[in-house]
Amino acid sequence: MRKRIAIIGSGFAGISAAAYAAKEGNEVYVFEKNEAVGGRARQMTTPAGYVFDMGPSWYWMPDVIERFFEDFGYRTADFFELLPLDPQFEMVFADDTVAVPRSYDALKALFETMEKGAGSRLDTL
Ligand SMILES: Cc1cc2nc3c(=O)[nH]c(=O)nc-3n(C[C@H](O)[C@H](O)[C@H](O)COP(=O)(O)OP(=O)(O)OC[C@H]3O[C@@H](n4cnc5c(N)ncnc54)[C@H](O)[C@@H]3O)c2cc1C
Repeated sequence: MRKRIAIIGSGFAGISAAAYAAKEGNEVYVFEKNEAVGGRARQMTTPAGYVFDMGPSWYWMPDVIERFFEDFGYRTADFFELLPLDPQFEMVFADDTVAVPRSYDALKALFETMEKGAGSRLDTL
């Protein structure tokens, strides 16, 4: 039976719940208190045109995201292309910049330069 469903919040959880509920043929409404959709994963654009991602940086659990798109007859590649980054990102401090490398061995070597033994301790985590 077709239902009227209200979803509170337009983060990943709300949007995905709304998508599945709509796919089942329900009438779905998403209510969002912020001006922009996306929740913690929303973007902020300044008047000067700079765009900031407000939350996620790491593309964790790609299999889950792929499965979500497949449930709706798409592939993630229909919408975006993933490119490996090296360095993955840079941390900018007042007096230093640290580039985080893609390779695990290079990361261990970097940690070792910061604290003796920190590189090998990564293996124990
Ligand atoms: C700085 C930061 C970095 C992160 N980095 C990563 C990362 O690298 N990789 C990763 O996978 N995850 C990361 N995360 C976590 C990821 O962003 C969140 O797990 C995910 O976005 C949460 O989605 P959600 O839908 O559960 O909740 P939210 O995104 O919080 O969505 C909840 C929504 O509900 C709305 N809402 C709440 N109450 C009401 C109400 N009463 N009426 C209407 N609307 C309401 C809120 O405004 C919000 O839009 C990061 C988060 C932050 C903040």
